[in-house]
Amino acid sequence: MTCEALINRFLADYIDGSLSTARKADFRLHLALCRACRRYVASYRRTIRLAREAGGSVPGVESLGEAPAELVEAILQVTRGS
Ligand SMILES: [Zn+2]
Repeated sequence: MTCEALINRFLADYIDGSLSTARKADFRLHLALCRACRRYVASYRRTIRLAREAGGSVPGVESLGEAPAELVEAILQVTRGS
């Protein structure tokens, strides 16, 4: 699994709990080996939590199972800036 695939294809499903067992094992293995993705996932979870606390929903995202492109882009901008 590449960083790009982890973030763009599997992260939302992982958070959502809908990732298959095999994919989940792959995902966790990558996280164990890749510090950048660990940091990314941590900031992603934090952003979701803050968004929920702020208003219960993320603009443009009906559920985490749908591709949260805007959210991912927002997080990327934050992590690039830090
Ligand atoms: Zn990675």
